[in-house]
Amino acid sequence: MLHADRAGSPGWMARGACRSEDPELFFPIAAVGPALAQVSSAKAVCGRCPVQASCLSYALITQQDGIWGGTTPEERRPGTPPAARRPAGPR
Ligand code: SF4
Repeated sequence: MLHADRAGSPGWMARGACRSEDPELFFPIAAVGPALAQVSSAKAVCGRCPVQASCLSYALITQQDGIWGGTTPEERRPGTPPAARRPAGPR
């Protein structure tokens, strides 16, 4: 998992669906082209995560890089239209 093992991490991280995933999945090198498949795979994990809302809030507050709460850094950037910021989830 990408963040659960950090010392002092928020308690919700231990319940993240990504705990058993390769951390690299959540840090694609781009948000376009071939990396889109990786972004989609990471978002699919987030879509079944019980702590997605906490994760997204944390990423917005702490300005994290990578996929957090089912969103890319670009989607979390201030000024991004709300529809583009919608996190991953059941479709
Ligand atoms: S929302 Fe995604 S990145 Fe955040 S803890 Fe859950 S699976 Fe991990």
